[in-house]
Amino acid sequence: MTVAEVIVDVPTMQTNRPFEYDVPSSLSEVVEPGMRVEVPFGRGKRKIQGFVMKLKDTSSFKGKLKPIDRVIDLRPVLSDEMLDLSSWLADRTYSFQISCLQTMLPSVMRAKYHQIVKPVDVEDKEVEQLFQGQDSIEVTSQMSDETINLINRLKKNNKIEIEYTVENKANQLKRQAITTTLNTIQLREKRSELRSNAKAQLKLINFIIDNLNNMPIELSDLTKVGVNRAAIKTAEKNNILSIIEVTKRRKPVGITPDKTTKMHLSKEQAQAVEQINQAIDNAKNETFLIEGVTGSGKTEVYLQTIDRAINENKTALMLVPEISLTPQMVNRVTGRFGNKVAVLHSGLSSGERYDEWTRIENGSVQVVVGARSAVFAPLKNIGLIIIDEEHEASYKQDDNPRYHARDVALWRAKRHKCPVVLGSATPSLESRARAQKGVYKLIRMKERINKQPLPHVQIVDMRDTENSAAKGDLSPLLQDKLWRVLKRKEQAIILLNRRGYSSFMMCRECGFVLKCPNCDVSLTYHKDLGKMKCHYCGHEENVPQICPQCHSKKIGFYGTGTQNIERQLNELFPDARVLRMDVDTTRRKGAHAKILKQFGDRKADILLGTQMIAKGLDFPDVTLVGIVNADTTLSLSDYRASERTFQLLTQASGRAGRADKSGNVIIQTFNPDHYAIKDAAVQDYETFYNQEMYLRHQANYTPYYFTTLISISHKDEGQTLKQAYWLKKQLSTVLSNNSILLGPSPTMISRKQNKYYYQIIVKYKHEPKLHQKLLDILNDTQADTKKGFTIAIDNEPQHID
Ligand code: ADP
Ligand code: ZN
Ligand code: ZN
Repeated sequence: MTVAEVIVDVPTMQTNRPFEYDVPSSLSEVVEPGMRVEVPFGRGKRKIQGFVMKLKDTSSFKGKLKPIDRVIDLRPVLSDEMLDLSSWLADRTYSFQISCLQTMLPSVMRAKYHQIVKPVDVEDKEVEQLFQGQDSIEVTSQMSDETINLINRLKKNNKIEIEYTVENKANQLKRQAITTTLNTIQLREKRSELRSNAKAQLKLINFIIDNLNNMPIELSDLTKVGVNRAAIKTAEKNNILSIIEVTKRRKPVGITPDKTTKMHLSKEQAQAVEQINQAIDNAKNETFLIEGVTGSGKTEVYLQTIDRAINENKTALMLVPEISLTPQMVNRVTGRFGNKVAVLHSGLSSGERYDEWTRIENGSVQVVVGARSAVFAPLKNIGLIIIDEEHEASYKQDDNPRYHARDVALWRAKRHKCPVVLGSATPSLESRARAQKGVYKLIRMKERINKQPLPHVQIVDMRDTENSAAKGDLSPLLQDKLWRVLKRKEQAIILLNRRGYSSFMMCRECGFVLKCPNCDVSLTYHKDLGKMKCHYCGHEENVPQICPQCHSKKIGFYGTGTQNIERQLNELFPDARVLRMDVDTTRRKGAHAKILKQFGDRKADILLGTQMIAKGLDFPDVTLVGIVNADTTLSLSDYRASERTFQLLTQASGRAGRADKSGNVIIQTFNPDHYAIKDAAVQDYETFYNQEMYLRHQANYTPYYFTTLISISHKDEGQTLKQAYWLKKQLSTVLSNNSILLGPSPTMISRKQNKYYYQIIVKYKHEPKLHQKLLDILNDTQADTKKGFTIAIDNEPQHID
């Protein structure tokens, strides 16, 4: 007999283990691990999907096993490697194995696709019989087991081939959408002409004004925001908008390969390449951390080591934080390796994404570039894995399964016996600390290519009267530098630090930030309580009316928008062409690439934007970078606040003066003496690292302690708190005195979707019983899920909010 172990698509703790099924003899030739099957489940006639994990001869089950009903895939969609990885991942991230398996599969495989069979050996009798004169046939669920078996046997003998095609519905569908030729002023005029009872028209016009950047907008999206058809028709009649047809399909992000040939390496580059190549040649599972200042030429190191892997007939996987934000990197890789590269990015249609996945799976490409989820690319024989900007928080998935791509990469590298290269100008503290311990090999690249000096950085103290007296957010010094850049016909980047929330308090007179007396992180404002709260320990206090430090009344919530800065730039420099890049102007697919291309083509003088523009960009004419407000990230209510600030400022400064012209950077701050700002100004990672490690040590934070965050939610606050305290008690039974249990405390937005969220933080060094306890807790609370509780466990969280 053949027994299959199947992970079923029922995401509960009770079903989070393999179930045994009988493989009927009619399917015994077909079923393989990694295929999806349909199986009966539970008492009723319910049929569900599952993944075959393993085949074996015997079963320990006493009763009669139920049979597999049907195979969904005629060839495995996940390799043995992926099946093993899913087990490890589920355990490590406290998530259901079924979620992990589905995460690894491209989403398109979860949707509808067709399996088309085509003849290879047309002479063969059985092939002839199968096709009966047709060019191809489609596999359907109605096919008999005999036919399926025949197909499978012919496939194994290479007499036929099976292709998957994805129906790209989006491709063909036409949708109705609205667009307008009016601008904001004209729309406002139309609005003022409305009768006072024309509520629907008012709503529609306001919506159009707010979304002018996003036209055309599909009618279905309008109904979602409560605008009805009648209102749209009326507006059309009144020449406010017109209705057009659009094709639904999203345009892929423009990749324009940047053809470069192998460069002659600098000494530092050559040393890096040499070490990594050696590990590739010897199939050595080593991890390198390249700590290279901005402009030190890390990309060329990546390219030449990828080249080595290819020449050794191996494959290479390269991860980047976000494809749309790093088009230059992608262009360089595709420019060097052409059609040997598959790029996995969110701008692909499902069909295109599937095509790339197939190209990888069947070995047509040797290099894969992609963001976080590309770490699951079905590459075989991996010879090198690269993670660029390894410190980026986007490598960690915020939802279940909460995996970090770096951890997955290290796992795969071990399996493939290959090196991993982590690269950054500002490595994460965790990685740098590992290199200190010798777990990773540290490669430092201290010099910029062609001995270009690092940019000249000036810190502007925004507490000074001349700066606070200036009308807007741009200090006189920054204005002066901008003016010079424009006069010299060079380019500038103006960065507005928006990662922080506007819910922390800062004094504009002295730079004081209201912090928790216990945890040294800033307090955040909780609207529903009207109080300032600490997310770590739950400490709360009233909103201060005057600054506790200097007694000024200028203490308040902090935050400025990009549009506001854009207006100020336009007023100060009416002739300058300003491009704005923020969430509003980049909502559409491909918008990032378009804006960056315009800037690269010198169609604008100033690129104004948020965090998005801080990393990876390499524009030779940029000689000035201005950072409007360095303090926002500094005041994040997170122990990583200083690290994030240092990273952002260093990365952003690194955009200036990369070619033959020297660069200037202006950092505006209310905290000019803060070490994160001072060290970033001189791009001194090592000094920052030492200081930050010292402080983390004092406060018992990562990397001295492991951190696990457990959050509990329920629509009743009392219930949530009760459960949270019960959890805390449970945890305390297994923890030693060396661990620290914080909370429960309410989270940042404590009432998302009418639910209350509380969290508990465990900081620990060595707690052998903790892992099992957390699994037990998950198990126990499963029963409570029905009562509306949700619980999430986040290993090494990237944000605490
Ligand atoms: P970073 O380390 O900041 O990622 P890049 O890889 O973008 O730096 O390199 C900075 C610039 O130097 C790029 O324009 C790149 O083309 C150029 N460059 C890199 N290596 C060399 C080299 N060996 N010779 C000449 N130019 C180089
Ligand atoms: Zn606290
Ligand atoms: Zn003050």
